[in-house]
Amino acid sequence: MRFYSLNDRKHTSDFENAVVRGLAPDKGLYFPERIERLPDSFFDQLADLDKEEIALRVIRPYIGTEIPEDELLKIIKRSLDFDFPVVPLNENISVLELFHGPTMAFKDVGAGFMAGCLGYFIKKGNLGNVTVLVATSGDTGGAVAHGFLGVEGIDVVILYPKGKVSEVQEKQLTSPGRNISALEVEGTFDDCQAMVKKAFLDEAITTQRKLTSANSINLARWLPQMFYYFLAYQQLKVNAKPVFSVPSGNFGNICAGILANAMGLPVSHFVAANNRNDTVVDFMRTGKYKSRKSVQTISNAMDVGDPSNFVRVLEIFQQEFSQLKNKFSAYSYDDEATKKAIKEVFSEYDYLMDPHGAVGYLGLKDFLKDHPQYQGVFLETAHPVKFLETVEEVIGEKVPLPEEIKDLMTKQKKSLQIKTYEDLKGFLLDE
Ligand SMILES: *Cc1c(COP(=O)(O)O)cnc(C)c1O
Repeated sequence: MRFYSLNDRKHTSDFENAVVRGLAPDKGLYFPERIERLPDSFFDQLADLDKEEIALRVIRPYIGTEIPEDELLKIIKRSLDFDFPVVPLNENISVLELFHGPTMAFKDVGAGFMAGCLGYFIKKGNLGNVTVLVATSGDTGGAVAHGFLGVEGIDVVILYPKGKVSEVQEKQLTSPGRNISALEVEGTFDDCQAMVKKAFLDEAITTQRKLTSANSINLARWLPQMFYYFLAYQQLKVNAKPVFSVPSGNFGNICAGILANAMGLPVSHFVAANNRNDTVVDFMRTGKYKSRKSVQTISNAMDVGDPSNFVRVLEIFQQEFSQLKNKFSAYSYDDEATKKAIKEVFSEYDYLMDPHGAVGYLGLKDFLKDHPQYQGVFLETAHPVKFLETVEEVIGEKVPLPEEIKDLMTKQKKSLQIKTYEDLKGFLLDE
């Protein structure tokens, strides 16, 4: 399939080139030129299909023959090598747990899939070595480090803001070593992001190294996020037409769900649940999109003031505000409300949410207040121990650590401290 740039439809690309480039040459996001509808027979059989088979059917139309089926299946197997349980809290609220992967956040699926695709394209041919350069506010770093660890032909350089990621997140991105380098930046996430952007435009670097990004706008991270909406649907009651509430930052995850729905997955409604970074909530109220500077919250992976993937959401609805409104709502909650929700669900259902999932829970509850007839599912996007300091303080007790985390905490942090863009440049040119 071809993909076109959302800035200018004339710029098109195949899958490989779009994955290697990340963004189109005009800086637009790539979007599939057709949204495939899956046949009724697929949904009739869904209950009996295994997760790899489902994923293959869902992604195949977009990749075509660019990756042979046996290779594609290997990539899928690696990126879905854990469980995606739907856990009921009560009659009409369930949690889709997306944190059973190696770095305990949903980004493991997209990062693993992208690493597999890029690894395949490098092995196949004429790309040469590639450097994945990425800035992280927390979860992306670990997922990318783990996904790309040991992949032949790829070096990964991760920039993260010193002292602004959780302890678990820091260990996950600084301990792998090998082809993964972690740069600890004296500054904020925005500073890291700005340095990465500058490097992509710096010819002194790009003539020496092939740079690519692994952030959530990449097709190879975005598209596989559809998989678990199908896996969730498979676990619900026959003929359920659920509402999905998705804690959203850059809007890649929810946008994948909306694409799954456009391919035929029965869904009644999507709720975008935001923290105080509520650009989209404002847009839904006023019809005018105004980006803002991000503000810091306890759900830090959603501290995004100008969500990149929202243009893809609009494109799925053919830029029709009325169509969007029928299927999509947005709500926002501050840290106090989020903490209160964590406490409430812990005492009422003995279920511990992380601060991101908690925002999703709140969005779902508010939507169901006016629409009690629906079956609701919110996405738990990370394991609560990734945000240990916050959740322990909220519930006022210690949270037992899973073995993998205890193990992780004993590993050594390896990072290089940097301050300026010149430091980054020096690092990239020296290596
Ligand atoms: C990245 C992340 C989000 C936000 O997902 P988007 O696709 O950017 O909307 C939400 N929760 C957690 C835990 C994350 O790591």
